[in-house]
Amino acid sequence: MKLKPFSERNRKIINGITENKKMANGYIFYGVPGSFMSDAAVYFASAANCQVCLEGFCGKCHACRSISRNNYADLIYIDPQKEKSLSGNITIDQVREIKELVKYGPNSGKYLFVVIRNCQKFTVQAANAFLKVLEEPLPGVCFILITKNVADVLPTIKSRCQLMFFPKAGHNNVMDYLYENYSEEELKEINQKTYNNEYLLNVFLEEGYLVGEGYITCRDILNKDKFARLEIVQNLIKDKHNAQTLLMIWIQEIWNDWQNLSEKDYTILDKLIENTGQMKYNVNLRLHLENLLICL
Ligand SMILES: [Zn+2]
Repeated sequence: MKLKPFSERNRKIINGITENKKMANGYIFYGVPGSFMSDAAVYFASAANCQVCLEGFCGKCHACRSISRNNYADLIYIDPQKEKSLSGNITIDQVREIKELVKYGPNSGKYLFVVIRNCQKFTVQAANAFLKVLEEPLPGVCFILITKNVADVLPTIKSRCQLMFFPKAGHNNVMDYLYENYSEEELKEINQKTYNNEYLLNVFLEEGYLVGEGYITCRDILNKDKFARLEIVQNLIKDKHNAQTLLMIWIQEIWNDWQNLSEKDYTILDKLIENTGQMKYNVNLRLHLENLLICL
């Protein structure tokens, strides 16, 4: 199993925890895009459950192989419910589900890991229910909460977990990972579809999708009528950070084609740059985005 290059320092800390079997009930991994925290969580679960190695994991025993095939009963993932909105929440029903899953402790492994992604997305009601799980730790159960926005994690959850910061992986390490895991042909396609943009590359590596699959491109917008554009605004206003990121991606998208830009493209670029800057201050996000998208 080839994991993406997360912080070397944190790898050593995790080794220390698993070797000494001093597992806390809950950890919060927080960091930036490109810090590969989900891979660190997989490493943690492998190192804690490996039947052979004391430090790290062997990659060959039953636990290691099941984890790498994403088929291990003692490594569970919880994601916010995306279908309801772009900025989906972790709901009370999901917390009930978690409670059911952990109530008897680990299945066949030494530790049962529950990885909760985007843990800043707990609704208050769900968080209160989850606090009870954190407060009454079950032996052998470990929660890893992951977030890129630690400021929005509820303080009551933060205070019951150990925090671990993940810096962005080094450029050379990411390049090594890419060359080891993708063919030249595939790399070419990835480069093209991520517009040679580091942020988009990290989104691809972390979330597993390329632009166009997960994002609406600026060219897509230009082909849509007024009503379709208003519908897109409706989705965008749910998360200001997402909206800002999308505008920046559009700027990059157009700019990457700088040799063939028409006068109209330059006007669009100007509007996008101006509006991305203004979004920091503009209170009425809906009005702002409507004006922008209709005028493109
Ligand atoms: Zn192993």
